[in-house]
Amino acid sequence: MSEKRTEIGNLGEFGLIDHLNKNVKVKNATSVKGIGDDAAVIDAGSENVKVVTTDLLIEGVHFDLSYMPLPHMGFKAVAVNISDVAAMNAVPKQITVSIGLSNRFSVEAVEALYEGIHAACEHYGVDLVGGDTTASRSGLVISITAIGEAKKDEVVYRDGAKANDILCVTGDLGGALVGLQILEREKQVFLANPEMKPELDKYTLVTGRQLRPDARMDIIHELKELGVKPTSMMDISDGLASEIFHICKASNVGATIYEDKLPIDKQTFDTAVELNLDPITCVLNGGEDYELLFTISQEDFPKLEKHADIHFIGHITKPEEGKYLVTKSGTAVQIKAQGWKHF
Ligand SMILES: [Mg+2]
Repeated sequence: MSEKRTEIGNLGEFGLIDHLNKNVKVKNATSVKGIGDDAAVIDAGSENVKVVTTDLLIEGVHFDLSYMPLPHMGFKAVAVNISDVAAMNAVPKQITVSIGLSNRFSVEAVEALYEGIHAACEHYGVDLVGGDTTASRSGLVISITAIGEAKKDEVVYRDGAKANDILCVTGDLGGALVGLQILEREKQVFLANPEMKPELDKYTLVTGRQLRPDARMDIIHELKELGVKPTSMMDISDGLASEIFHICKASNVGATIYEDKLPIDKQTFDTAVELNLDPITCVLNGGEDYELLFTISQEDFPKLEKHADIHFIGHITKPEEGKYLVTKSGTAVQIKAQGWKHF
């Protein structure tokens, strides 16, 4: 008799998460929010909460050290967790760092990794308070957990978007994916001919987006100063389209976004074209930008209207209206989600 075998690829990343956690029920009153948002939320007494988020990065799956300098890797591993804390409208305070190392790594190499981790701790004002170190058979493994703080009523979840809310994104999108394509291309050139020097000078913006993303804590502080609490929020780690699906699913709403409102940097656009990629597809499906996607109620719009780095890309609709991108020519195209497919 053969045992039942289902390929993980059949479920996909999000399907697997749902499948494994469908029977998980929280027992403790302090578990305010469990699985299903950018971070878990834990009651910390007297109207305060802690948020907790964790990420696992594996060499050869999530990063390639042939073009990712170790200090950048350390910084990025912290930044991606801080981004999830930001996505809850919380302020990061502590991290723990766990690493698996193969014997390929020297003490100096690990020091270089930690140089980036410490730089990120300075940059985000967080303390490194623990972790674990272990041997690895397959290169470098990094798992970071970040802990943040917020007032209970300040926390922003994915499920608060309402019809007519305005969809906002920070910064520009697609750069990290385009940067990754450039780094991969130059790696292949180098492998074919080690004498060739990689040509990266004209791509510093997009490669920087891939190698050293910055979590948007600046925006979180500015929203607070401007008196704006988003109705829903998450960070853009898997691509705008995928994140819009998450917000729509959690909030039970639809969304319409406009192609001509999507923020794309000129270098991202030009490089995408050079690589024969559709720039809008890069914006919609490119991962790792670590910008914020959030919704605000219409009455908050005047407070953000003039903000140079917040872009209003569309609005929330009723769930039956679906999820659409209106192209520059005015055609409404259904948005398709496309998360990471590592499996
Ligand atoms: Mg997230």
